[in-house]
Amino acid sequence: MPVETVVPGASRTFERLGWSPLLEDPTPHPFLHPGPSRRGRCWGSSMLDIQPLDRSQRGWRFLRPGLDHWLQEQAVQAGVELRKHTRASGPLPSSGQGPVTLSTPDRSSVTVDAKLVIAATGRSSAPPFLPVEIEERLPETIALSTIVEDVTEETDVSIIEAVVQGWIWWLPLGDGRASLALLCDPSEVKALGRAAIWKRAIQSAQGPARNCSTASTRGTPATARLNSISTGLLLAGDAISAIDPLSSQGLEKALVSAEATALAARTVLLGDASAATMGDHRQRWERGLFRIHRQRALDLYRSETRFPEAPFWQARHAVVESKQTEANLPAGLLCPSPQLQRHPRWVAAGDRLVRRDGYRLATSDEESIDHFGSVPTAALIELVGDQLPMSQLHPRASRIAPLIQQSPATLTTILGEMCRLGWLVEKSSTT
Ligand SMILES: Cc1cc2nc3c(=O)[nH]c(=O)nc-3n(C[C@H](O)[C@H](O)[C@H](O)COP(=O)(O)OP(=O)(O)OC[C@H]3O[C@@H](n4cnc5c(N)ncnc54)[C@H](O)[C@@H]3O)c2cc1C
Repeated sequence: MPVETVVPGASRTFERLGWSPLLEDPTPHPFLHPGPSRRGRCWGSSMLDIQPLDRSQRGWRFLRPGLDHWLQEQAVQAGVELRKHTRASGPLPSSGQGPVTLSTPDRSSVTVDAKLVIAATGRSSAPPFLPVEIEERLPETIALSTIVEDVTEETDVSIIEAVVQGWIWWLPLGDGRASLALLCDPSEVKALGRAAIWKRAIQSAQGPARNCSTASTRGTPATARLNSISTGLLLAGDAISAIDPLSSQGLEKALVSAEATALAARTVLLGDASAATMGDHRQRWERGLFRIHRQRALDLYRSETRFPEAPFWQARHAVVESKQTEANLPAGLLCPSPQLQRHPRWVAAGDRLVRRDGYRLATSDEESIDHFGSVPTAALIELVGDQLPMSQLHPRASRIAPLIQQSPATLTTILGEMCRLGWLVEKSSTT
């Protein structure tokens, strides 16, 4: 999209990447505006609710062409050889290394023998260019969007509105224009026609979008999905997992994903791990992140119940999630699951990833866990041993160094979480 929002919490990511000055510069870059001072929602009821935001709640708006240019400059300053207007033609080498053919602006082609390939080719990445399979996805979504010129009302408020056809996103650019998008179902667009679905949606809007019915729009695929790849080819950003635009966190996730992939790539090049191991690690990490965002998006879609007959909403309400069970505080005898296995977790250490002791269930497709809060998993496994009668919790914990500082209440809560994950099985104290 020409303008994209970044939530306030992303400042931590910018700080870690050494880019805080970008956000804090008193003479801001022309591609960067603070987020609007008000936020509006018409969701779950036909009332348009507009709330003021204090500075800490606003986040930022980035004009994408300017941000992308700035990011390219940072890469060049860090020593990257940037080839503009050059495209890789596939299929990319599935082992993650080997020849990659590049088509250059003068229509010639050049082949690079790559030591390691990272595909960061965005949402449309698919075979045969990239040997990925879609592993999970939310219902198909397309964004119809336009830029509204000469905005005179609601110039400093972002608004999301649920309508029968999907949801509308009004986002002033900060320069007298606004971005207006309708996120809707591509099969409805196909059946009714783009102009008709746009007109119907916009006419039903409560906010400033209602004045923009005649605009011509462009369509962008916006389906949230997780790709999987079974080879050593590393993926970053939307090429591996794209989240629902409702979250406004795609940019931050792409930056974090790129950082994680760069560390994985360096670990391979240093010979500390194979490309296949790093590929598996990246996949598990992205899967966990995708599922967190998926659940948040679905919760928000479920909170809108006014349009039960509409295909867009039916499709989203029909997605069944494996319900998270509540963590109960254990009281009886705890035994480790026979499925629990020791498996390292790869964590960032400077410019690479290193192994840390971790555990996961043999059936799990997500990362190992090395800590519960500040408590090392290995110490908790030692605490449980073959089995732990909860009446023995305190005396046993007082003999294990990393647990001495932990209160029995904290340890009980953590053990409850381990039960919820299926790592520990609770038997009644009399058995
Ligand atoms: C409708 C919509 C609204 C959104 N709004 C927001 C928002 O408000 N806030 C937010 O944080 N995120 C938002 N996002 C998400 C955000 O745009 C993406 O998550 C982010 O751009 C992903 O970055 P990326 O680098 O992985 O992919 P992209 O930004 O798509 O970049 C991929 C790049 O790879 C290039 N490429 C592709 N194939 C090749 C090839 N063969 N050879 C060479 N280059 C190639 C493409 O040209 C492109 O430049 C939105 C997404 C959508 C669809």
